[in-house]
Amino acid sequence: MIRTRFAPSPTGFLHIGGARTALFSWAYARHHGGTFILRIEDTDLERSTPEAVQAIFDGMAWLGLAHDEGPFFQMQRMARYKAVIAEMLQAGTAYPCYMSSAELEALREAQRARGEKPRYDGRWRPESGKSLPKPPTDIKPVIRFKNPQEGVVAWNDLVKGPIEIANRELDDLIIARADGTPTYNFCVVVDDWDMAITHVIRGDDHVNNTPRQINILRALGATVPEYAHLSMILGDDGTKLSKRHGAVSVMQYEADGFLPEAVINYLARLGWSHGDDEIFSREELVAWFDLAHITPSAARFNTEKLLWLNHHYLKQTGASALAPKIAERLQVMNAALESGPDLAAAIALYVERCQTLNALGRALLPFYCEKTPDAALLAQHLSDEARPALAEFAGVLETVEWNAAAIGAALKEILKRHGLKMLQLAMPLRVILLGETNTPSVDAVIALFGRERVLARLSGYK
Ligand code: GLU
Repeated sequence: MIRTRFAPSPTGFLHIGGARTALFSWAYARHHGGTFILRIEDTDLERSTPEAVQAIFDGMAWLGLAHDEGPFFQMQRMARYKAVIAEMLQAGTAYPCYMSSAELEALREAQRARGEKPRYDGRWRPESGKSLPKPPTDIKPVIRFKNPQEGVVAWNDLVKGPIEIANRELDDLIIARADGTPTYNFCVVVDDWDMAITHVIRGDDHVNNTPRQINILRALGATVPEYAHLSMILGDDGTKLSKRHGAVSVMQYEADGFLPEAVINYLARLGWSHGDDEIFSREELVAWFDLAHITPSAARFNTEKLLWLNHHYLKQTGASALAPKIAERLQVMNAALESGPDLAAAIALYVERCQTLNALGRALLPFYCEKTPDAALLAQHLSDEARPALAEFAGVLETVEWNAAAIGAALKEILKRHGLKMLQLAMPLRVILLGETNTPSVDAVIALFGRERVLARLSGYK
């Protein structure tokens, strides 16, 4: 039975890297009919906030990554961590260390001066035949894990391949501070153990923690899970992904008019592949997902590709399903929805040219508000030569059959009679109706705009 977890620290918004980790953990569990657990690692009291917890819930909900167990909060599990520490002290796999911070600093100074790597020297580590100093009464001890001193910690990372660390490289990790609070790596270990995690899928910024965590798990007699460490996500310029590369918060993508399907599809391809497939549904992702096809090299974030996918999903979703989302956006821009054309029909005409919900909303706004066109722009496009043809066209529109084909045919007819080119009428018509020249085919725009409103707009040019 596969059990995975997503274990974010609630110190900011849910960013793209975190969302990808969540997605891979979720997809792996779903693929195997396993269990996906959400665990909030909120022990860093200074940096954790309730807003960030909410941002994680919101981001996961928006992406549709439902957990089967949790959310568990580490702060609510303190008693359990302390109980395990007590057991380890009892079993001799952990020990109190009374070294003061001044002593530790002095030790590090001396090691650095000798050109050695600063590390704890094991002075409070109990060994058979070794006599320990008498514990000072004025110092509360930290608790250290008794890391094995011989041999290696090795695991076959499911992304990075075999990794091996010599135990002598690892000193005795502090698992509880002097005030009794457990430290980060220790809480992760107890949680992964208690939650019977079979596959730890996480960012490779944690790869250095893994040998320590494995040693503690072994000392506890716990089954060691498999590990899969995901490589970083870089910006398109090859540097660490940051705000400079655009939105990095998942919810910012929602605000910017992306569909969750597009973001999911995009994130799945950030470091994982299924042949040459670029577009696939959530169901296909679940059916295909595996760890074997995660690349160990860094993935590069590519906004153009995300836009391309979003465009695909906008078209696939279809105009009527998009209408409520576009309506929301238009309302924010003070559009009068009831005064304009059927929203689904408007979306259908524009979806080919807009890659996001926001771009669609902006493009459709002129259909739902009354605005006199910019005089200078109109002057630029409406020549004296074209005016009589425009007036005649306005007249024809009073009786023409109201559909794009008939309107187009009537327009061509007038152009021909006046010896004009299409743009000489199409451009001023676009400016008069929509205030801009970059629009879909003018006959379709006129048809969508509606007879009465078109006639009202053109009345001044008759
Ligand atoms: N809380 C850690 C983080 O947000 C993740 C720990 C883990 O996955 O083991 O980076």
